Amino acid sequence: MKIFEEIESEVQSYARSFPRIFNKAQGEFLYDIEGNRYLDFLAGAGTLNYGHNNPYFKEKLLEYIYSDGITHGLDLHTAAKQKFLEVLNEKILKPRDLEYIVQFTGPTGTNAVEAAIKIARNVKGRENIVSFTNGFHGVTLGSLSATGNSHHRGAAGVSLSGSSRMPYDGYLGDDIDTTAYLDKVLSDSSSGVDLPAAVIVETVQGEGGINVASRDWLLNLAEVCKRHDVLLIIDDIQAGCGRTGTFFSFEDAGIYPDIVTLSKSLGGYGLPFAVVLMKPVLDQWKPGEHNGTFRGNNFAFVTATEAINYYWSDKKFSDEVGRKGKYIEQRLNRIVDLYGEGNFTTRGRGMFHGINCVSGELAGKITKVAFAKGLIIETSGADDHVIKILCPLIIKDENLKLGLDIIEESVKEICAKEDSIPEEQDFFSPQVAAK
Ligand SMILES: *Cc1c(COP(=O)(O)O)cnc(C)c1O
Repeated sequence: MKIFEEIESEVQSYARSFPRIFNKAQGEFLYDIEGNRYLDFLAGAGTLNYGHNNPYFKEKLLEYIYSDGITHGLDLHTAAKQKFLEVLNEKILKPRDLEYIVQFTGPTGTNAVEAAIKIARNVKGRENIVSFTNGFHGVTLGSLSATGNSHHRGAAGVSLSGSSRMPYDGYLGDDIDTTAYLDKVLSDSSSGVDLPAAVIVETVQGEGGINVASRDWLLNLAEVCKRHDVLLIIDDIQAGCGRTGTFFSFEDAGIYPDIVTLSKSLGGYGLPFAVVLMKPVLDQWKPGEHNGTFRGNNFAFVTATEAINYYWSDKKFSDEVGRKGKYIEQRLNRIVDLYGEGNFTTRGRGMFHGINCVSGELAGKITKVAFAKGLIIETSGADDHVIKILCPLIIKDENLKLGLDIIEESVKEICAKEDSIPEEQDFFSPQVAAK
């Protein structure tokens, strides 16, 4: 551990929650250098929907590397990119009646968000972007101005301008449709909210604490945007690629967003990759206006193509996510009912679920105990008060059960004797340990 303390920046975060040196991973499992095995319910914060080192993509990737396929090609046409575009178009976009132009941005989610809000501002000739309470869109300055979290915002060092915040679905209580408020301020020239170029929203807020927007709310939001000539950007970086049960998280709502950002699980193999999808009329970029050395990661083209071919050629995978999602929901509801201190609640959609522990301290204790039992799981939300269940979608039933059993035991342990838990847990005997 010494070298990490010696020269790695203090900015490290997940490493603090899981102080181990990991050296192997397969499917839903991570292994440390001592040979301990951990079930991974963090899954790269939603980047490993298809699991670690997915064998179907690994083979194709190795073939590609051995045959000296292009690794880096700026934004040149490559055979790998050609295949990816064809498969994306044939298997994802066309069957859903979505007509989009694909822009390859730098390989991070935040760069896709930057590109999305730039194109919206340039097309509409307006600066303001409306985003939502507890929204998370990345930590570069443009994305950060649309992000709610004060910890991240505070690090900017400059004023974060060009955006207005609106209450997300449920922010003011279950009975208030906050899109009515948005509609009102956009209708009132003296509301103080400048007419925005776009609204950017997550259908399920991942970092914000698994807040789920209802179908009706999304429909109403799309309607309000249309009425005021404002573009709708769905940031599907975490909720997309099957997490909620469909490839895009907005499919159930039946909306056709003007712009969509995708990253995280898009590459399929955990490789850095991001795109912006936009309606053709919005593609008003001049050549190279938004550039970047790593636009289009060719290794990720190969694995993303395989991911779509393998998992999205028919409805099977989607149905599987639906089935496992229902099981997760049932188990979490039971855990909350049995041990949840009364005020715990569950939330989520598909395989994107959380337990709201109300207190961040309590949630932290539970995830710490879970780690000692061999489960890697994180918290999210304003006070880190929501335990975020984000296991790979390909997880085997028995391991999903195992993980939920560990969550159940951990909640039970902490809630049963909240005051008698020692400050430091013994981390050195994971029960799931195996060679
Ligand atoms: C993770 C995430 C981002 C940022 O992606 P990075 O690759 O970390 O820059 C943006 N939006 C959402 C919804 C995310 O979950």
